[in-house]
Amino acid sequence: MSNTEVHPPEVLCTSSPGSSAPVEILTPRSVPLGGPRAMTVRRTLPQRARSLIGAWCFADHYGPDDVAETGGMDVAPHPHIGLQTVSWLFTGEIEHRDSLGSHAMVRPGEINLMTGGHGIAHTEVSTPSTTVLHGVQLWVALPAEHRDAPRDFRHHVPEPVALPGGAGEARVFLGALLGSVSPVPTFTPLLGAELILAPGATVSLPVDETYEHGLLLDTGALTFPGGNRLAPAELGYLAPGHATVDIANPSADESARVILLGGPPFGEEIVMWWNFVGRSHDEIAEARTAWEAHSDRFGVVEGYPGDRLPAPTLPNIRLQPRRNPVPQTPPAPDETTQVRLAAEAHRYEILVEGAVAGFTEFRDHGAQRVFFHTVVEDAYAGRGLASVLVREALNHVRSSGMHLVPICPYVAKYLTKHDGFRDITDEATPGIRSWLKAELGS
Ligand code: MN
Repeated sequence: MSNTEVHPPEVLCTSSPGSSAPVEILTPRSVPLGGPRAMTVRRTLPQRARSLIGAWCFADHYGPDDVAETGGMDVAPHPHIGLQTVSWLFTGEIEHRDSLGSHAMVRPGEINLMTGGHGIAHTEVSTPSTTVLHGVQLWVALPAEHRDAPRDFRHHVPEPVALPGGAGEARVFLGALLGSVSPVPTFTPLLGAELILAPGATVSLPVDETYEHGLLLDTGALTFPGGNRLAPAELGYLAPGHATVDIANPSADESARVILLGGPPFGEEIVMWWNFVGRSHDEIAEARTAWEAHSDRFGVVEGYPGDRLPAPTLPNIRLQPRRNPVPQTPPAPDETTQVRLAAEAHRYEILVEGAVAGFTEFRDHGAQRVFFHTVVEDAYAGRGLASVLVREALNHVRSSGMHLVPICPYVAKYLTKHDGFRDITDEATPGIRSWLKAELGS
């Protein structure tokens, strides 16, 4: 599908640090896809509160739509870069054509995954026999090293696999779950599955603890331990650190259908505009110019009886990067522990039942936060507090849009064991070290 918003916003997306809330519920916004009898979709990704779940960067839910009213789907040739599109239908049928020469039908329970790294163009048209259209359109951001990947198209029909305890069934279209493994290759580890939960069913799904997960509810209702509840088209987010995804269908007579998405936090910033995923405004502008110039970069879609979609006008200004929300109180080791920024003291403090149990000190060098000393009081040793303190401090550095410099040996050691901050870690150069020495007056 094309993002056919008339004035698509330019969005800078980055992985957000996890919050302590067991489930973060993202509500969709309605987006009309244009045209006289426009289909409207419900978009949960990207949005202000969260732009990515793993490499999943776009999630539209649509239907069930009566095609006689909406006109169905008729998306003229349009381009993509830097992403993969995942089409998954619940009802209806869509004919896909692309500039690789692929011609395929998208049907319920079958994944079509198209790679538009350097550039691809495609069309999507619901077939004449389709009376109801109902499904999801998902995008996967390609990591920087593969963002120019060649055009590709994959089709796969996953066998349903039973959920534990007769709770229902799953169709695993990307990644692995419950021993079902999709053969469709991806550029980052990913999970994508349709789950159907029987009425009244409760299930605990073993998942990769390093992944963050999203549950996009299609029909029925879904509850989480602790009472959070999803309505249709809402997306529940689970931060990394869960060994299981625990969900229940509270209805006594209706099944629940949900799309489970997952992946390790993406760790790269991307700019999304229209149908492009890039790393900068200039990269997006260059792709737009190439499309408007009919460049070979995107190729030609054969067999579509109509004109191409013109690219919308770029925004007049380079939009400033969006910052992610500041994380809440950190999780664990228990509910009486908190990490806070004590800005005047140039340190983050960890509090246990209100008492300062430790701190990590820094000085700011421009947009670099230079950490040089971490302490946990003896009375609180051996409880893993230093690790929680440093993790939350570094999450806060990320959410502030800053980089970090590890001069403190403990912070440096932490970074050798935890990959998640590599993209915001700057080297402790001799220049920084002597600046810090002067700053501390020693
Ligand atoms: Mn498309």
